[in-house]
Amino acid sequence: MLELLTEKFGGTLSKLKGARKLTDKVINDALRDIRLALLEADVDYEVAKSFLKRVRERALSQEVKRNLSPAEQVITIVYEELVNILGKEKEDLKKGTVLFVGLQGTGKTTTIGKIANLLKKKGFKVAVSSTDVRRPAAMLQLERLAERIGVPYYSFEEGLSAVQIAERAVQRAKQDGVDYLLLDTAGRLHVDEELMEELKEIKERVKPSEIIYVADAMQGQTALETAKTFHELLGLTGVVLTKMDGDARGGLALSVRESLGVPIKFIGVGEKVEDIEPFYPDRIAQRILGLGDIQSLVERAQEVIPEDKAQHLSAKVLAGDFNLEDLRDMLRMIQNMGPLDKLLGMIPGIGAQMKNIKVDEKQFKRIEAVINSMTPEERRNPRIINMSRKKRIAAGSGTSISEVNKVLKRYEEMRKMMRKMKGMAGMPLPKFPFK
Ligand code: GDP
Repeated sequence: MLELLTEKFGGTLSKLKGARKLTDKVINDALRDIRLALLEADVDYEVAKSFLKRVRERALSQEVKRNLSPAEQVITIVYEELVNILGKEKEDLKKGTVLFVGLQGTGKTTTIGKIANLLKKKGFKVAVSSTDVRRPAAMLQLERLAERIGVPYYSFEEGLSAVQIAERAVQRAKQDGVDYLLLDTAGRLHVDEELMEELKEIKERVKPSEIIYVADAMQGQTALETAKTFHELLGLTGVVLTKMDGDARGGLALSVRESLGVPIKFIGVGEKVEDIEPFYPDRIAQRILGLGDIQSLVERAQEVIPEDKAQHLSAKVLAGDFNLEDLRDMLRMIQNMGPLDKLLGMIPGIGAQMKNIKVDEKQFKRIEAVINSMTPEERRNPRIINMSRKKRIAAGSGTSISEVNKVLKRYEEMRKMMRKMKGMAGMPLPKFPFK
């Protein structure tokens, strides 16, 4: 996601790095590049215009900061203005009835499942229901999803209207003491009056705490126009952008907040129920600027790597005592964290280059197979692995001697690198922004 912007901004910033002073020309050249990048990314024209205006004003009026290079000054301004248009802070969902609206096929039902799962994991009491009476298949889809996640789905007798279902679901949620009732609504292919009337009536009757518009990021500007219509009629309180994983441009992500005045609350980044992230404007801005998203990476790691394991491993690394068993543990942890190309994109400086790289996850499995075919002694003390042992390991793992050699060589390189890192332990990480 956002690869296009990351790539273009990366180009602009590396050009800036050559500049010794922040002259009008340097600023204008950079702004021209940024303008092209924004328009190519399908950012709303007005949003791009006011963004550039603010960056220009601030860049021109900057008192010279001795300790910042021109590139750093511009990055800092661009970063802050990006955060501004993205929405400053992460916004949580207000407890109560949350109504999800939007057109058919945007990912509304999937998103409700994802959010239900997220809230449940946080310890909230969640229930879901659907008012899409004209599409029984859509209701069934949500019911199945709820079952899989393990949250109640409220179903009612046939023949009730959407409004009646909404009212009864809210009643039931009150009786059950539910924190969040997530309500799916009818999806249509186009905005139509009947649907809008229905949604308005549901809104009046159940007084939702939130009305969330679900938009398909890949639809860009078209989705923004539809969202405006929904907002005028219903008063949205938030937006979820789905399919960000398939959207290299990111125009919608940058336009929604400024254009609608409504925050983006979550982004969908895949088809699985875990593939959702709260929308952190600062982290997205960092990703766009190629600064990676270390916080998200660390949180992801904390979710899947047990604390004691992680401590144990880092202690071994620091002690320079890192063997093949530890390498295997590490590979397993990394694999548990999810698709590698997604993870690598979060590492600073790598995002833009990731577009064309497909990580070969099979390679991981082969390395693991090689390590598994060693005896515990060999894993702890790889130096004893001679030719006849290599033959045995290759045969046992269904690989070749050269493959075994490669694993040993990689391990040796890692161990050397870790030795070097040992000297740097305790060094503070660079801070961002630069101020
Ligand atoms: P609805 O008609 O709005 O309820 O849409 P669905 O929830 O049925 O989703 C439509 C399609 O989009 C399904 O194939 C989903 O798997 C897919 N989808 C939903 N969210 C995402 C996402 O964040 N990323 C990707 N890649 N696919 C998604």
